[in-house]
Amino acid sequence: MALSLEIVTPVGQKLRQPAADVTAPGVLGELGILPGHIPILTALDIGRLTFKLPGTGQQVLVVNGGFMEVEHDKVVVITETAELASDIDADRARHALDRAERELAKLESGTAAFEQTLRAKKRAEVRLSVATQG
Ligand code: ATP
Repeated sequence: MALSLEIVTPVGQKLRQPAADVTAPGVLGELGILPGHIPILTALDIGRLTFKLPGTGQQVLVVNGGFMEVEHDKVVVITETAELASDIDADRARHALDRAERELAKLESGTAAFEQTLRAKKRAEVRLSVATQG
């Protein structure tokens, strides 16, 4: 028995495949999904979504907010951007992190621009971490 995992972004379907389990960055904490899970709809944070293919090792995907719906062993994730470790350009993430840190130093905390830049910083940190450590 496996889950069916589908990841969708505004530019199309990123992947659709069976998975033995899925762990997702819920806004209230990490969520582990196994076959037979109760139906849920939850908001996602920026973070690592991990899944295991039946009979293979664990894979990691960086997701950028959005939602996850679980129903009848079908897991659907709708997120702004999604990258597998092998998609990530570590230098680009390093530059994005430097840029976000420089911008944050000039912005007033609590403003919309500050919050937006904090999210850019978090995206870059997670991408860099997944690109370099998996
Ligand atoms: P940057 O400032 O480097 O563009 P960003 O966080 O603003 O980073 P996003 O708006 O989240 O980028 O993503 C835009 C597109 O670029 C998406 O398709 C995303 O998957 C891709 N992307 C962003 N950063 C990287 C990266 N370091 N390596 C590979 N693809 C990336």
